[in-house]
Amino acid sequence: ERTPIRRALISVSDKTGLNEFAAALAARGIELISTGGTAKALRAAGLAVRDVAELTGFPEMMDGRVKTLHPMVHGGLLALRNDAGHVAAMEAHGIAPIDLLVVNLYPFEATVAAGGAYEDCVENIDIGGPAMIRAAAKNHAHVAVVVDAADYEQVLAEIEAGGPSLAFRQALAQIAYARTAAYDAAVSNWMAGAIGAGTPRRRVFAGTLRQTMRYGENPHQAAAFYTDGPARPGVATAVQHQGKALSYNNINDTDAAFELVAEFAPEGGPACAIIKHANPCGVARGASLAEAYGRAFDCDRTSAFGGIVALNQPLDEETAARITEIMTEVVIAPGASDTAKAIFARKKNLRLLTTEAMPDPGAAGLAFRQVAGGFLVQDRDNGSIGAADLKVVTKRAPSSTEIEDMLFARIVAKHVKSNAIIYAKAGATVGVGAGQMSRVDSTRIAARKGEDMAGALGLASSPVEGAVVASDAFFPFADGLITAAEAGATAVIQPGGSLRDEEVIAAADERGLAMVFTGMRHFRH
Ligand code: 5GP
Repeated sequence: ERTPIRRALISVSDKTGLNEFAAALAARGIELISTGGTAKALRAAGLAVRDVAELTGFPEMMDGRVKTLHPMVHGGLLALRNDAGHVAAMEAHGIAPIDLLVVNLYPFEATVAAGGAYEDCVENIDIGGPAMIRAAAKNHAHVAVVVDAADYEQVLAEIEAGGPSLAFRQALAQIAYARTAAYDAAVSNWMAGAIGAGTPRRRVFAGTLRQTMRYGENPHQAAAFYTDGPARPGVATAVQHQGKALSYNNINDTDAAFELVAEFAPEGGPACAIIKHANPCGVARGASLAEAYGRAFDCDRTSAFGGIVALNQPLDEETAARITEIMTEVVIAPGASDTAKAIFARKKNLRLLTTEAMPDPGAAGLAFRQVAGGFLVQDRDNGSIGAADLKVVTKRAPSSTEIEDMLFARIVAKHVKSNAIIYAKAGATVGVGAGQMSRVDSTRIAARKGEDMAGALGLASSPVEGAVVASDAFFPFADGLITAAEAGATAVIQPGGSLRDEEVIAAADERGLAMVFTGMRHFRH
C-alpha cells in the first residue's frame, strides 16, 4: 500500500526548507510543478521545475487569486487511480496524476498579527491553496499532502522506503484538514472583530497544536496545548530558556501568574506574583524586583514552595539569586539578564520563560470553560476600575494609602478563585483566602495565613493588623466583614449590591472601618 511518487506540485508562501526538500525530491527523479514564486525560488536553486501556468494553459491572474484552480490540477489531485471511469477521464482530457502536494498557505494569521489593514488581510486569504489541500487530503488513498515544513523529513524517509504508506498518507490528510479548519477559523474570527458593530454570533473554535505533554492534570490524562489565532503576549508566546518541558499544570499556573502580574504596568514599578494551583500565595510591589519578590514570598512562605513566579520586569541577578533560595517550578518575566540566566543555569529543573511583551490586561478575548457535552464561552474579564470609580459608603472615608492598597487588593482578588478575600498592606498581600464555599471561611483563612506568617517572621503582631481587605463579590451578611474587622482590617473594598448592604455598612461604621463599593464583581469559579 505504498504509493510511488512520480509528480509533485509545490506551492508555498513560507519557503523555509523548500530548496533542500525539493532538491531531494528531484534527486529521486520526481517531476516538480510549481506556482510563480515557488518556481522562481526553485529555479534560483538550480532545479528544473514546470510552471503551473503551462499545465493549465492559463496564466496566473487577478493578483494570484487564480493560479491553480483548474481541472488539470484538481483532476490530477482528485482522480482515483484504480477507477476505470476516473482513468478514462484523465486520458480523455490529458490530465496527469499528481502524487504529492506540498502547500503552505498565504500568511493570513501573520498579516492579522502584524496589524495589517483590512484589505491586506482579505488579500491574504488563500483560496487555491486550501482547495488543493482539501482535494489531495480527500484523495489520500493515492495522494500525499504536506502542509508543514516540519513533515518534509519524514516524507523523504517514506519515499525512500518505496513511497508513502497508507497510514502515513492518512496521518498527513488529518493534519491537512486541521490546518484548513484552523485557517478558516482564523479568517472568520478576524472578521468577527474587524467588521465591528454588535456581538459576533458565530464564533469558530479551532486551535493550532503547539505542544503535546506527557500528561494532563493527572498522569492518566493525555493533554496538549493549542494556540488560537494570533497569540496575545503571554505563556503562549514565551520562550523557554532552561528546565524540563512545561507540564499541563505548569502552563495553567504560569498563565495565572503572568496574567495577574501583568495588571501592574512595568512603568508603575516592579511587581511579583507567586502562584500555586492557579491561586496567588503572594503578590507584591517593591522598590526593586528582588524586594517585590521578597514581599510576595513573605505573604505565605509555606505555600510558595514549589510555586510559579511571575515578574513584570526583566529578571535581574539579585532577584534570580533570591528565587533560587527555595524550590520554584517556573519563572516567567518579560526578559532576563545574562547574569540572572547564569544563576538559574545552576538549577537544572527550574524553568525560565521570557516574553518580549507583557500580556495586556485590558485586551479583549474569549475565555472557555468545559462542561459535559460542550463548553461555555465568555469575554475574558478585562474589567478595570480606578480611584474615581470608588463609592465611599461609610462615615469614615478611606485615607489615600488605604485607597492605594484597596485598589491593589481588588486587582489581586480578580485573579483569585471565589470566594476570594485578600488582605493587603503597603502594596503587598498579607493574607489570601481562596476558593472557599463560604465567604466567611475565606475571610478567616486569609486572616489565619497572616497570623501564621507573623509567627514565622517573628513579628510582634499579625500583618493583617491595619491592612485593607478586598472581596471579589459582595458580603451577603455582615459576618464576613466583622471577621475581617476582628482580624485587624481597617478598610474594605467590595462590589456592593447585596440585599443586606445596609447591615454590612452599619457593621463597618460601628467598628470605624472605611468601606468603598466598586460596582464591579470579579467571580472566578
Ligand atoms: P508562489 O509564492 O508560488 O507564487 O505562491 C504560493 C502560494 O500561492 C501558496 O501559499 C499557495 O497556497 C497559493 N496558491 C496556490 N494556488 C492558488 C490559487 O489558485 N489562488 C490563491 N489565492 N492562492 C493560491
